[in-house]
Amino acid sequence: MEKKNIDWSNLGFGYVPTDKRFVSNYKNGAWDEGTLTSDPNVVISECAGVLQYSQSCFEGLKAYTTEDGHIVIFRPDMNAARMKDSCKRLEMPVYPEDKWVEAVVSVVKANDAYVPPYGSGATLYLRPYMFGSDAVIGVHPSAEYQFRIFCTPVGPYFKGGAKPITIRVSDYDRAAPHGTGNIKAGLNYAMSLYPIMEAHRQGFDENMYLDPATRTKVEETGGANFLFVTKDGKVVTPKSDSILPSITRRSLVYVAREYLGLEVEEREVYFDEVKDFAECGLCGTAAVISPVGKIVDHGKEICIPSGMEKMGEITQKLYDTLTGIQMGRIKAPEGWIKVVE
Ligand SMILES: *Cc1c(COP(=O)(O)O)cnc(C)c1O
Repeated sequence: MEKKNIDWSNLGFGYVPTDKRFVSNYKNGAWDEGTLTSDPNVVISECAGVLQYSQSCFEGLKAYTTEDGHIVIFRPDMNAARMKDSCKRLEMPVYPEDKWVEAVVSVVKANDAYVPPYGSGATLYLRPYMFGSDAVIGVHPSAEYQFRIFCTPVGPYFKGGAKPITIRVSDYDRAAPHGTGNIKAGLNYAMSLYPIMEAHRQGFDENMYLDPATRTKVEETGGANFLFVTKDGKVVTPKSDSILPSITRRSLVYVAREYLGLEVEEREVYFDEVKDFAECGLCGTAAVISPVGKIVDHGKEICIPSGMEKMGEITQKLYDTLTGIQMGRIKAPEGWIKVVE
């Protein structure tokens, strides 16, 4: 396979169409075989459930080239399981988990020329998603659905090192108590667009959302979970029914305990505690961990001791270990790495 002529190191995080995508249709109570297609366009009814009542969910995961030249995918079974949860909550039909992983593998194989080479810092981002595709005008679940997976090469998240970011405490909520915050529904993102643009207009990189019921506990940002480190080297990560269970965060918790021998607390985290932490990071597939240097609560600044120049020491160790596992430099836990070819 000859790689595409792409300037991998200078790729951004944008959509670059690739050769093939997977599509399967659900009709009369069953999924069809599914197929790879060259057509990047979706044609659906003007009255489709997704267009009228936002019945849609998605996933995000990555394929990489490891140090020894294999193409691998990181924990796709976890994304399949999470999409199952999303589908159930949104009254959508589950796409069988084993076939889900097979479909992801088929997309990576069909686009192997777009998987960035080892060492470039770039990766192949995979976007599985499902939506109600038939006409729905009364409010009820769609009868027909489409499940699709496309991929797009994305550049290194941090060009020239990870610079800590500044975030603000948001006055908006990301999710309702007992709402859809714990699933990957497109509608959660639609709601977050105004608050994130407002944050940017005010000079902040991200929003910290507090728990919607009491506004005293830390939840997450629009698209990443929090991870804190205490002054005595313990890892603390918020636990709540309304945060999205990040696979990166769950992997980092395992790495902290089993690879680095750190103590980890998964518990409610009060905003009042944040000023006492030594390090703070945001975890998600896109960046693995983005360090946070400053948190601003209505004009009151909390400066994280690790500062605005680099990641905290333990955050860096977590980052290096997890990316080492993903890139094949460090032995992975059983079942974490799906080898494609
Ligand atoms: C996808 C997502 C994350 C990150 O999850 P990963 O599985 O680590 O990529 C965190 N928060 C929200 C709201 C998300 O949608």
